[in-house]
Order: sequence, then C-alpha cells, then structure tokens
Amino acid sequence: MANGQEPGAAFHITVFTTHSAEETTKLGKQLATHLKPGTIVLLRGDLGAGKTTLIKGIAEGFHAAAAEDVTSPTFTLIHEYRGSRLTLYHIDLYRVDTQRELDTLALDDLMGPESILLMEWGEKFERFVREKDAEIVIEHLGGDERRISFSKPTTETDLGELSARKHEDKGPDS
Ligand code: ADP
Ligand code: MG
Repeated sequence: MANGQEPGAAFHITVFTTHSAEETTKLGKQLATHLKPGTIVLLRGDLGAGKTTLIKGIAEGFHAAAAEDVTSPTFTLIHEYRGSRLTLYHIDLYRVDTQRELDTLALDDLMGPESILLMEWGEKFERFVREKDAEIVIEHLGGDERRISFSKPTTETDLGELSARKHEDKGPDS
C-alpha cells in the first residue's frame, strides 16, 4: 500500500474552481470516484481553505458518512467513517509536531487494502510527502472562491471524465 512514487514521477493535475462550500462538497463527492482503496491522500491548504469541507463530500461519495457528520478532527486527530466497501480515516496533524506524537497515533495500523487515509497537514512529515498516492491542494482566492488542484500519478489514466470538467487555471499568480 501507499507505495509512493518513483522520484520524479509525473503527476496528472486537474484544477477546479469552486464558489461555495456546497460546491466544494459536491466536488469531493466526484473526486471520491477517483480515489482507490489502500492509499494515502494529502489535503493541503491554509486553515479555513476548505480541506474538511472537501472531505465531507468524499465521505458522502463513499457512503461512509453524511456531510453534516463530518467535522474537523483537529483535537481528536482521527475520525473514522465506515463505508460499505471501505473505511475512511480523516486525520488532522495540525497539532502533531514530533515524531513521537505521530508514533502514538499508530497510523500504520490504519493502512490496509480496505482503507483510505485522508490527511490534513500530512506534509508536515516527510514520510507522508513521500508515501502519498494523491494530493489535493486548496487555495483561498478571496471571498468564497477556492482553487482546488487534484494530482495523482500519470500511470492512472482514468481522469478523462474529470478533465472534461477542468477549469483552466488563468490566475495571475499561476
Ligand atoms: P480547513 O479544513 O481547510 O481548515 P474547513 O473546510 O474547515 O477548512 O473550512 C472552510 C470554511 O470556508 C468553511 O467555513 C466553509 O463554509 C467556508 N467556505 C467558503 N467558501 C468555500 C468554498 N468555496 N469551499 C470550501 N469552503 C468554503
Ligand atoms: Mg480541517
């Protein structure tokens, strides 16, 4: 599981723009169809960017939880949502700073062929940057607008449907 990528492996990046929390949740539901069991997905973005909001949709997509039941695990660190096919682990490492603290979470025990680890602030630990299978970056563009980039290795070519919905990134800072 989470075999990571060869150094320099190419990623396929799809960029979306959303204009409300609802739209982001809806996008999460669509992205769920592109996530595979036995993987680690990093969600990156500032506080309030919309990581947890997107995960609401991902959990709905897997029939693992209703959006309103998905809340931030900032203090509990891990939330578990059981779907019929697999279990989603929603992990927030914002308050986890040392290797020792990380070890107490025993995240290795959660990984397996029937689980997906959705991690907020996973990039704080080099290990997860290396081991991630997919990455979602959310940027606050102002107001309720968010730019959401979904990347996964190019070896997986099932992004056709998503690409059709792609919003070209024409931001001034792109
Ligand atoms: P994070 O987990 O990245 O810290 P949250 O998902 O908890 O962020 O919070 C995002 C906040 O921004 C929520 O209050 C949400 O309602 C609001 N919001 C406004 N517009 C959007 C949008 N387009 N996408 C996601 N969240 C949005
Ligand atoms: Mg969050």
